[in-house]
Amino acid sequence: MGEVPYFVSLDEAVRIAKQTPLTLDNETLSLDDAHGRILATDLTSKVDDPAFDNSAMDGFAMRFEDTLNPPSILKITGLSQAGSDIESSNVEAGCAYRIMTGAPIPKGADSILQIELCEVDEQQSVTLLQQSKKHFIRKKGENLQKGQVALSKGSILTPSKIGLCATMGYAEVPVVTRAKVAIISTGDELVSPGQQLQPGQLYESNSFGLAGLVKWLGHQPHRFNAVPDTLAELRTALDQAAKTCDVILTSGGVSMGDWDLVRKIMEEEGDLKFWRVKLRPGSPPLFGTWKGTPIFGLPGNPVSSHVVFRMIVAPWLRHSTSATGPIETQVRVKLADKIKSTDDCTTLRRIQIHNTEEGLIGTQNSHQGSGNLESLASADALTLLQPGQKAEVGVWIDALIL
Ligand code: AMP
Ligand code: MG
Repeated sequence: MGEVPYFVSLDEAVRIAKQTPLTLDNETLSLDDAHGRILATDLTSKVDDPAFDNSAMDGFAMRFEDTLNPPSILKITGLSQAGSDIESSNVEAGCAYRIMTGAPIPKGADSILQIELCEVDEQQSVTLLQQSKKHFIRKKGENLQKGQVALSKGSILTPSKIGLCATMGYAEVPVVTRAKVAIISTGDELVSPGQQLQPGQLYESNSFGLAGLVKWLGHQPHRFNAVPDTLAELRTALDQAAKTCDVILTSGGVSMGDWDLVRKIMEEEGDLKFWRVKLRPGSPPLFGTWKGTPIFGLPGNPVSSHVVFRMIVAPWLRHSTSATGPIETQVRVKLADKIKSTDDCTTLRRIQIHNTEEGLIGTQNSHQGSGNLESLASADALTLLQPGQKAEVGVWIDALIL
C-alpha cells in the first residue's frame, strides 16, 4: 500500500477527497427547468416586493382618524381592485374606498377594515363596526428591496426558491452544470432486474439506488452495465467512464479478497488517495483518480454503498459545487432500544423514529446486516454515533433523516 492513507476517520476521508474537487461550468436555465438545481451566483432582486403599498384584506380603505369611535359611517367614493391604477385617487376625510386583497392603496388612506366588519347600505355609505387597522397595509419593499441579495450562490432551487426568483423578476437563472456521474457495478454474480436468475446470481440493485442519490443532489447519473470480475473488462469500463463523465462511482470489489479488482486495479494502475474508512457499515471504500477523473470505490453491500455515498460522496459533491442546504436533516432522537456502537468507527444504524409528546423516539427493530436493503428502505434515519459513543436506552443521540 505504500503511503496511501489507510483506514482513515470519516472526517479525514472527506478532507482528502475535497482536495480533488470537481470543477463544473455554469449554464443559464429558464425557471421551468431550474427546479432542484444549484444556483451559481448570488441573485439580487430587480424589484421591490411588494412593488407598491397594497391591501392585505378584502374590505375598505380610509383615514384611520375617521374610525376612532366605532361605529363610524363613511361615504363610499371609489374602488381599488388588483391591477387598478390609483394615480388620480384621493380618499378624503369622511370617505372610504372599497378595496380588494392585493389592490393598491388609494391616496389619502392609511388603514383598512376587513369586509366582515363593514356594513354597506344602498345609500353608498359604509358602517365600520371597529377601528380600521394600519397593519393591513403591506408596505412597498417590506419583503424585499430592489438590489437586495435574496438568494445566495449555492442555494438549491426548491419550489419556494424558484417562485422567489420569479418574484425578483428573473425569467432565467444561472445554475451549476450537473455533474455527469458514472455508476459502475462490479461482480460476476449480478444480473439486471427483469431477467431470469440462475443459481448463484442476484439482482443488481446498487446502481439504481446510487442513481437516485445522484439525482437527489441535482446531478446526472450514467448507469453502466454491471462489469464482470475481470481486470480487462473493468479497465475498459473505467476508461470509458473517465472519457465521458466527470466522476466515477464503482460498487463492489474494494475489500481484501483476491477478486476485489477495483482495489487491485486502483493500486496498480490508478492514483489511490485513501482506502478504507472508519465507518460502520461501509468500511471498505477507496478514493482516487483514474486517468485524472475522481473515482469513489464504494462497497458492494447495498446498505454500505448507500451509507458511503451519503457520508463521503455527497459532502464532496456539495463542496465541489458550493451547494448549501437545505438537503440533509439532522435530528435529536431519544433511544428506546440499545444500539451497538463501535470503539473506532462512526456507526450508522438504521432506526425508526416515532413522534411523541416527549420528542422524537428512536427504535431499532430490523436486522442490521449490510446486505439487507429492506432494513434501509423501512428505516426513517441513520444514527450518527461517534467512535466510542455509548448508545444506551434513554440516551439522546444525533440521527440523519433518510
Ligand atoms: P463485494 O464487495 O464485491 O464483495 O460485494 C459484497 C456483497 O454485495 C456481495 O454479497 C455482493 O453480491 C453484493 N453486491 C455487490 N454489488 C452489488 C450490486 N451492484 N447490487 C446488489 N448487491 C451487490
Ligand atoms: Mg464483488
